[in-house]
Amino acid sequence: MTSFLDFNKDPANDIDNKPQQYHNFGGKGVRVQVYWAADIWRDASLWNNSWALLKGADEILRKYTLALDMLPLQTEPAALAPTKDKATREFDKSVGKQVARQKKAKGEVAKKQTEAAAKAIEEQGRAARGLLDFSGSVYVPMQGEAPIDGLTVLRKSLGTIPDETRLVVVFAHIDGGPNGYTVLRQEWLPWVIVDPQPIQDNPKTLLLHEMGHACRLSHQQDSAGSATARNIMYSLDFKGLTHLWGWQVDTIYDSYWCNGRKPSNWWDRISNAKLPPDHPFLWDEPP
Ligand SMILES: [Zn+2]
Repeated sequence: MTSFLDFNKDPANDIDNKPQQYHNFGGKGVRVQVYWAADIWRDASLWNNSWALLKGADEILRKYTLALDMLPLQTEPAALAPTKDKATREFDKSVGKQVARQKKAKGEVAKKQTEAAAKAIEEQGRAARGLLDFSGSVYVPMQGEAPIDGLTVLRKSLGTIPDETRLVVVFAHIDGGPNGYTVLRQEWLPWVIVDPQPIQDNPKTLLLHEMGHACRLSHQQDSAGSATARNIMYSLDFKGLTHLWGWQVDTIYDSYWCNGRKPSNWWDRISNAKLPPDHPFLWDEPP
């Protein structure tokens, strides 16, 4: 844990003009495991938007001496394309070999086994690259919690999460209003869904805003209008939100996804309701 939390909320304060309110974390990575729903990774424009969001989150984290540490791929779109093609070709080749072998094999059992093996190879390959079979959208209302059924279908399509200390980020279409949603339910550690649809005023902060919630940051500057709001944890998403206060950066650093312990009580809305509306955090954690 960091040594101090000065909950200053002066919109004018930023790392440029008040460096004494910020720690230097030396580029420490915030770990994410990224997945793309089929409707996103099959669409070049949405795919590129998702990368703009990842890049935007990384840029802002770097401004505050952190960085985005992402799996499965850390390559930007242009450089990624040949890698993706090559990987696809390799998997196709591997599946092709299995199918050829199957043609030689005799009997229904051998055929079924080979088909299953070919399918498994193809699915593992995609899953390892974060490319989901999930197609369609998740319903999230403008206010309140998303129904569990849709969340469960999407989440199941991820399979087993390789490392729980990586924040799960899923790019998928969201129905109902918001472009981003942080799932805070007892069934899972906090995870994030972001819709990389092209209508975005501020692609730099949408993902980072949701990551902030997953690190237990609550909304800020709620009484500010769009002319004076500067903080990335402002409830709406638009150009001009570029600031994180020092204590917010500390909170991201202290999260399970960077340098902290496993969160507790993140789903407990009844006791969280005791927190005042302008409280810095979404849930209380024992010190
Ligand atoms: Zn929010």
